[in-house]
Amino acid sequence: MPLKFPIYMDYHASTPVDPRALEAMLPYFSVHFGNAASRTHAFGWKADDAVEAARRQVAALIGASAKEIIFTSGATESNNLAIKGVASALRPKGNHIITLATEHKAVLDSCKHLQANGFAVTTLGVRPDGLVDLAAMRAAITDKTILISVMAANNEIGVLQPVREIGLMARDRGVVFHCDAVQALGKVPFDVNEIAVDLVSMTAHKMYGPKGVGALYVRKQNRKLELEPLIDGGGHERGLRAGTLNVPGIVGFGRAAQIAKADLESESERLRELRDRLLQRLLARVPDLHVNGSLEHRLPNSLNVSFPNVAGEALLVGIGDICVSAGSACASGSEEPPYVLKALNLDHDLARASIRFGLGRYTTEEEVDYAAGKVADVVHQLRQMTAERNLAQPDPPSPLASARQAPTWPNPAEPVQ
Ligand SMILES: *Cc1c(COP(=O)(O)O)cnc(C)c1O
Repeated sequence: MPLKFPIYMDYHASTPVDPRALEAMLPYFSVHFGNAASRTHAFGWKADDAVEAARRQVAALIGASAKEIIFTSGATESNNLAIKGVASALRPKGNHIITLATEHKAVLDSCKHLQANGFAVTTLGVRPDGLVDLAAMRAAITDKTILISVMAANNEIGVLQPVREIGLMARDRGVVFHCDAVQALGKVPFDVNEIAVDLVSMTAHKMYGPKGVGALYVRKQNRKLELEPLIDGGGHERGLRAGTLNVPGIVGFGRAAQIAKADLESESERLRELRDRLLQRLLARVPDLHVNGSLEHRLPNSLNVSFPNVAGEALLVGIGDICVSAGSACASGSEEPPYVLKALNLDHDLARASIRFGLGRYTTEEEVDYAAGKVADVVHQLRQMTAERNLAQPDPPSPLASARQAPTWPNPAEPVQ
């Protein structure tokens, strides 16, 4: 098959809707448009049936029961609801929360919000391989600790946190455990009863469902969890999340969850092979590259690498037809590398010269081979340019100077935006 450009390798940011999920959604925009809360007629019943079927599909993906699933607008909302909801409900019990420096902003900013409102937050650093230091976590728990929030898989570097150990530790100390499982779902097994977890954040658009719909798992089994809603209104979703349900979105999410569960093993195997192939091909031509985060404890579809002696901006411009996330492009115009890489204690320039590859359901071997070749070519060309410039002028220019020359790739005749 001929390659199609640009090549999408940013599946950690979002995924296309699987055609099977889209097909399931379509009738619920028009024919079956009813409000799932309408109890008095067939349009309402039809929508409600579809929502409940989707609830069972989403629950099945994580080994939960349907009653434990609350639909939301996505994982940002789920993280907010989990963290702020537990904090308000358990305020009489304690005010201390533990999280990690590498969590998603929706978690870190929810914690910051609470900190400004009288809560104490311990944000633990991570080891150089990106994993939590379990001994440090154990030591951080006090009598006032009410919540631990740690993600299953990191969205920047793909590392898998030891959520089972954290769950046991939390349960042992009577602390609620919230886990943002967005990146893990459909890629690695995640079962709420194998992991003693109380709250789990999910989102459809990172697992081949639509944007704007997600869920929060709220444990009912073995433990009655208290939670305060963020949104008040019509009492939808057990009073935890008011607002008319996004029926087509929820239907698509359900179907996407069903596919993710059915294909988990074969899909992760295929992705792992593609990811390993990408790394091998890069290493063969750039042996001094640096893998960010543990390779062993990692999502099968994820690779984050840094290239020494290369300017991050020039690298990103150079590989223009491959859509990835890069250390030089985190916040627009910012010189700062991503905070997750900073938390690994990575050297500033190395963190800026990083690329996050997120492979997915539609990634092909040809795309992987092209991407590896292209990235290696650009790294070599940039290093060559730097070497030539250093010969011509003894004072080394700033990395930004080489970025300005980068538009010679991919094609000097083509303007690069
Ligand atoms: C994308 C992402 C989120 C946010 O999810 P939205 O549904 O886009 O709000 C939260 N956590 C992680 C780990 C993510 O990757």
